[in-house]
Amino acid sequence: MSHQIYLDNAATTQMADAVKRAMEPYLKEKFGNASTTYSYGEEARGAMEKSRNFLAATLEAKPEEVFFTSGGTESDNWALKGIADAYAGSGNHIITTKIEHHAVLNSCEYLERQGFKVTYLDVDEYGMVSPEAVAEAICPNTILISVMFGNNEIGTIQPIFQIGKLAREQQIIFHTDAVQAYAQLPISVRHYPVDLLSASAHKFHGPKGVGFLYVREGIKMPSFIHGGAQEQGKRAGTENIPGIIGMGAAAELAHRNMRRKMIQETKLRNYLIEKVLHEIPNARLNGHRNMRLPGNVSFSFQGVDGASLLILLQEDGICASGGSACNTGESRISYVIRAISVPEDYAAGTVRMTLCGGTTRADIDAAVLSLKKNVYELREGTPV
Ligand SMILES: *Cc1c(COP(=O)(O)O)cnc(C)c1O
Repeated sequence: MSHQIYLDNAATTQMADAVKRAMEPYLKEKFGNASTTYSYGEEARGAMEKSRNFLAATLEAKPEEVFFTSGGTESDNWALKGIADAYAGSGNHIITTKIEHHAVLNSCEYLERQGFKVTYLDVDEYGMVSPEAVAEAICPNTILISVMFGNNEIGTIQPIFQIGKLAREQQIIFHTDAVQAYAQLPISVRHYPVDLLSASAHKFHGPKGVGFLYVREGIKMPSFIHGGAQEQGKRAGTENIPGIIGMGAAAELAHRNMRRKMIQETKLRNYLIEKVLHEIPNARLNGHRNMRLPGNVSFSFQGVDGASLLILLQEDGICASGGSACNTGESRISYVIRAISVPEDYAAGTVRMTLCGGTTRADIDAAVLSLKKNVYELREGTPV
């Protein structure tokens, strides 16, 4: 394969070398089952708990509040279905938004079929949920509010503090899908009034198939996977030791110089935004200008077919996406793009470019050059 410029870090990230090195011994030499008592098992258990302690510390949480899962999807499913199950006696109403990841939306749909009532809140043109709308939607039956921290398609960061505060005042449980935000932004559960938080390792240079759910002490959380006594008896199954070690190592890397990396990535992101809006006519930025994830950019180009644009970008070695990796092959215009009311003649021409710490200015320059050439070509129907 020729040189590729990878600008799809919201879909997944490349594993960091240090993460791979940290995992390697646990793939073979240190293969013990964490539930056993001899040295192999103790070694695995010790490393797993070290990972848990570190992850908890990044959130200013307690280690007992961190439960390992198979990733963001499982964490979201567990949060929604678990709370619905445990608190069904107190009410049957859930509040979420129209722009959540499918892991949340499809769990909500499932719960609706079980008799729960779900309010899907609208967002404004920037993809922002208003705390006032949340307040209005709350009723005596509301047991859970689930609002994502940062959106995977358009990058908008939600007013999590204000929504959490509202939820807390009314004694309603608050979950946030922080899969795009955790390890990109500093998140403390002492600052943010969140009760449950989902994260996934492969979105921050860790391995695929592992994540965690933070569950605030005192929240009733039923077992999700039934079987052995792992994870305080709430999530059975032999632990994914290499994955858990890798996630801990990835979190450590991410939290080292986090602010400096955020500033650097934000600068490069703004450079990309300004360059495209300046150099390509009839282009728009989707999502909020400032309240957005450091590495996330989403553009819509008038009169361009996004799928064709992605193919042309790919031919230039630029890996971008149409919005969400989960939407490929489905409807041409994503539900998130619809929810923010992108004008019809722009909506189909949506491209997401998501950066990581390793993205360079030269990568961005190459991406803009390719975008410019290919948008022009698609609009004119003739090569430049
Ligand atoms: C990727 C993603 C998920 C799913 O996480 P997996 O670990 O891939 O299952 C959930 N929510 C958001 C916002 C995501 O970006």
